[in-house]
Amino acid sequence: MATVGQFKGTTVCGAAVLGAVLMHAPVQAQTVDPRIEKLVSSVSEARLQTLLQKLSSFKTRNTCSDPNAPDSIGAARQWIYDELKRTSPKLQVSFDTHQVQSIRGCQGTIELRNVMAVLPGKSPRRIYVSGHYDSLNLGSGGQQTSNAGATGAQGATGARGAQGAQTRPGAEPQAPGEPPAPNQQRPARDPNVVAPGANDDGSGTVLSMELARVFAESGIDFDATLVFMTVAGEEQGLVGAGAHAKKAKDEKTPIQAWFNNDIVGGSHGGDGSIDGATIRIYSEGPEDSPSRSLAQFAARIGAIYVPNHRVRLMARRDRFSRGGDHSALNAQGFAAIGFRESRENYAKQHGANDTIDGVDFTYLAQNARVNAAGMATLALAPPPPVVTNERGAPSIDRRTSGYDAHLRWQASPGAAGYRIFWRNAWAPDWEHELTVGAVTEYTFPKMNIDDWVFGVAAIDAAGHESSISAYVTPPRAATEGGH
Ligand SMILES: [Zn+2]
Repeated sequence: MATVGQFKGTTVCGAAVLGAVLMHAPVQAQTVDPRIEKLVSSVSEARLQTLLQKLSSFKTRNTCSDPNAPDSIGAARQWIYDELKRTSPKLQVSFDTHQVQSIRGCQGTIELRNVMAVLPGKSPRRIYVSGHYDSLNLGSGGQQTSNAGATGAQGATGARGAQGAQTRPGAEPQAPGEPPAPNQQRPARDPNVVAPGANDDGSGTVLSMELARVFAESGIDFDATLVFMTVAGEEQGLVGAGAHAKKAKDEKTPIQAWFNNDIVGGSHGGDGSIDGATIRIYSEGPEDSPSRSLAQFAARIGAIYVPNHRVRLMARRDRFSRGGDHSALNAQGFAAIGFRESRENYAKQHGANDTIDGVDFTYLAQNARVNAAGMATLALAPPPPVVTNERGAPSIDRRTSGYDAHLRWQASPGAAGYRIFWRNAWAPDWEHELTVGAVTEYTFPKMNIDDWVFGVAAIDAAGHESSISAYVTPPRAATEGGH
């Protein structure tokens, strides 16, 4: 296994201050696993194209369209189901069905069906990848016109729409010049008009379907259970993801991480810019939240396995006045991140012209590989260490001296060791790291815990590293008993 250096070792932040124990500690960076390299390289551009050709050929996948029409959402979701089913006998394919009332723009009760393929692992903890298969046609102008009138009312987006109320939905914008009116019923659009949704979000849908094949055929025995999800009802307010997330929370399903991909296939921006070499990841804060940690992890692992494709981390939930399914997971307390292409073409979103010619399959495949690298590493590594006590307070103290940094964590199943990270308390990203053995506490002499941020990751014997759990004071709302 080759070793890839990602961080400075122990030499930087004053070894004299830290003491001799640090100077002699071994520092091994994240290792490269040839099996993951193989898995990542097996993502097929050609299959992504074949899948999207079929998916975008249905007349519409609008949530409110007639499910019994031969070429609409009912037929499309059945095709996704059948395609996943024939992909591999290792995949457990099912409809995740929810009856939802009062979806704006729809008549009566709507049966939403997320389509999911589960690849069972040794442990029940789950890692998801998703795209939403429903599509939308707003009529003339599409998203381009709507963005021009956007007020940036991001606070109104997100998973509150998941309850199916008439909340302003995550993805659907208001018309130009229209004031924000969260509770105002707008005239219904015809849900049965043509809406190919090739990029939004056929791209994320076929990415998830292709990764189902790649992981199932990899022959790797993953520790985590992997779930490949194509989600319904996103355009009406993250309804399908919200219903799944709520159920998962109620049933205490251990969702460790969720990689949401929404509009990830275009390399040509509407302003003439071109970028086929980067992808954005959005994540809900505050800093060091589980979602931010997951985003950093995805960027770090992506750089190792897909070095010619750069992740651009965005320290915000999503774009202005836009939303995505990862926010519905965040709303139920799960770590989830949103992948977005770097250069959007708003004129080709939410209209009849969101066609397959707007998708760059070389680019989409690279984005799939970044997802695959992060998911595979996360699924092989031990779960991230728990660094809080029963009340949610960080397990960090100053020892009896009052001036040392004393870190404790709960042992992660399967961990052969741990890696401690730290940085200046104003720095955005980790600066230093130290690998320690199979211990569950560590002391840095004469380091003031008020001046540094500490985090710890779990590592298995083969070197797979988990995401980093940081020692942070819980957000005030949580401290005061919920929100
Ligand atoms: Zn979308």
